[in-house]
Amino acid sequence: MTKFNMDAHMHFDLYKNRQDVLNYIEENKSYTIAVTNLPDLYKRYYGEDWNYKYIRLALGFHPELVSQYEDQIDIFKDFLQTTRFIGEVGLDYSIKSEENRKKQREVFRQIVNLCQKDKKKIVSVHSRRAESDCLSILYEFEGKVILHWYTGSLHNLATALSRGYYFSINQQMIKNQNGRNIIDKIPIERIILESDAPFTVGLDLNYNLVFVNELIAYLSLKKNIDKAVLYMQIKDNFRKLLL
Ligand SMILES: [Zn+2]
Repeated sequence: MTKFNMDAHMHFDLYKNRQDVLNYIEENKSYTIAVTNLPDLYKRYYGEDWNYKYIRLALGFHPELVSQYEDQIDIFKDFLQTTRFIGEVGLDYSIKSEENRKKQREVFRQIVNLCQKDKKKIVSVHSRRAESDCLSILYEFEGKVILHWYTGSLHNLATALSRGYYFSINQQMIKNQNGRNIIDKIPIERIILESDAPFTVGLDLNYNLVFVNELIAYLSLKKNIDKAVLYMQIKDNFRKLLL
């Protein structure tokens, strides 16, 4: 059986041994979108001559950091043309402050508008407890959207599917009923895999690709698809995302 390794959303830089993590991914030929949380961090790694065969560096601005680092939108603009991959961006309403949420919306709207000029952009979106507002800000966006670790309503899920969005699912989602309900509703053609490492079970201290096997085993059982076929399907989904 030909395996296919991928990770559409992971934070290599939150590991102490980040170079080992990057080497491991390359050795395992795992197609990876390495997201960043701040434009300044993207700038730093980009400046270190990012050059990997399997790992793409994404320019990000995490919603939980937006209000504290608002000025970094200028760095975001400066580096926008240097990558096709944008993330992690979006909204997070587990933050209660209305003022903070407002800033998040302003910045996310700006980011979406900036990315709109380039139809090729692929955006990895964080939407925790803010799915409706995320969808309305993305309403006219014509690039590719990946909803990462989606936990919202099935109604919003249906809206996102109708717009052609992809969903990157992780191994923590299959460990609770809400996550499983969501995954069961996503057609296999829209599923890609992520770890959101180091924030998910088993990956807090070191990175590995066991989550890929776990997700494939789960999907094979739930969707009643042979594992070998599933690997091909996921590979094809990722290929289409990149078209
Ligand atoms: Zn993340």
